[in-house]
Amino acid sequence: MSFFEIELDLPSRDEERHWACSRKVRYGHLQTAMKSLVELMKKGRQDLEVYRCEYCEGWHIGHKPNLLVRGLIRGLRNLFG
Ligand SMILES: [Zn+2]
Repeated sequence: MSFFEIELDLPSRDEERHWACSRKVRYGHLQTAMKSLVELMKKGRQDLEVYRCEYCEGWHIGHKPNLLVRGLIRGLRNLFG
């Protein structure tokens, strides 16, 4: 999608998130997603977090977690050091 298309036809927040869902890896369990996130963090990725998806009811790794999950991840990060 080009910058101009976004300007002309700005997707709603829901459409944007649904689109993000369909193109992301879905994890059926939080623990599985967390393991993948930890591996990514070991490789130097510090900008990613796990969040619950309201569309597929799975878990994704992305940049926009909800606040509850953000707090949970902060705790897990402490555990993993
Ligand atoms: Zn999803």
